[in-house]
Amino acid sequence: MTSTPDRAIEVVGLRKRYGSLDAVAGIDLHVNRAEVFALLGPNGAGKTTTVEILEGHRDRDGGSVDVLGHDPQHSGQAFREQIGIVLQSTGVEPYLTVEETLEQFSGYYPRPRPIGEVLEVVGLSDQGGARVRQLSGGQQRRLDVAVGLVGDPDLLFLDEPTTGFDPAARRQAWGLVHNLQALGKTVFLTTHYMDEAQQLADRLAIIVAGEIVAEGTPGELMNRDHVSTIEFQQTPAATSFIAGVLGEVAIGDGLVTIKTSEPTSALAMISGRAAEQGVELEGLTVTRATLEDVYLELAGPGAAADATGDDAGAEVSG
Ligand code: ATP
Repeated sequence: MTSTPDRAIEVVGLRKRYGSLDAVAGIDLHVNRAEVFALLGPNGAGKTTTVEILEGHRDRDGGSVDVLGHDPQHSGQAFREQIGIVLQSTGVEPYLTVEETLEQFSGYYPRPRPIGEVLEVVGLSDQGGARVRQLSGGQQRRLDVAVGLVGDPDLLFLDEPTTGFDPAARRQAWGLVHNLQALGKTVFLTTHYMDEAQQLADRLAIIVAGEIVAEGTPGELMNRDHVSTIEFQQTPAATSFIAGVLGEVAIGDGLVTIKTSEPTSALAMISGRAAEQGVELEGLTVTRATLEDVYLELAGPGAAADATGDDAGAEVSG
């Protein structure tokens, strides 16, 4: 396969079987250079298998893979120097300082990034002299990213970078990913947090049972069905307000919910009738589908059991 200069990753027809299981069942995907790309999917969907094939840590059974102009399955040192991998737990020495840790790792690369710069990008400039074991969980995660960054890779794989973070630490980590992008790095992210994907990803793909079921920008995915939701608290006259409104209506739990592809006319009709009767529609909202709604629709009911939507993170599966 020939790689195009604007593509960091190009995958065509990728397959991986474990015995009789098609863990990755012939997927196509691409990641542009300097883009943040997120791969989402429920447990066992094939994310780790796909990522490890892209990193050169697992062999494929079919299809073609191009990562920065290399086939990871048949590549060597030059390829490994161009990619950085941040796993969920990195084996760093707890008794070394942050700077000593980065010095150790930078020795493995021909053109390491200056350690001071790396510390700045990950927000650990003030912790250079601190021992690893003294760092908070969030700071240790940033050190993991620093280790992935020290060789100055063009492409960074981040595996669930904010799992276990409190909301403030997650916001900081998101800032860090934006810093990586500002440096021109390509970031391949796996995450179970829908709000994280929505915040960070330029493009994303959803994989279910080894197949890509959706791919695009978060906006494209959220607008996929062109459906908005109008909601207000139930009032005695509610049924007369919604008569003839185009959409799918549900009344329950004291709420009237209308899913419609024509929110402007539906809202005009409902609010016009309510205003005529001098009724205030309490709790009136108009929202479009969130990434989580789209994800749950595509990933199926199995994924819904784990989904939550609070600010601490909409974790879809562990
Ligand atoms: P999670 O979110 O739980 O990490 P995942 O999307 O990363 O899941 P994979 O780890 O790629 O999923 O696994 C995909 C499927 O392949 C699963 O059914 C898993 O049990 C199976 N699988 C993964 N690795 C192996 C292996 N080495 N041998 C046999 N089966 C495997």
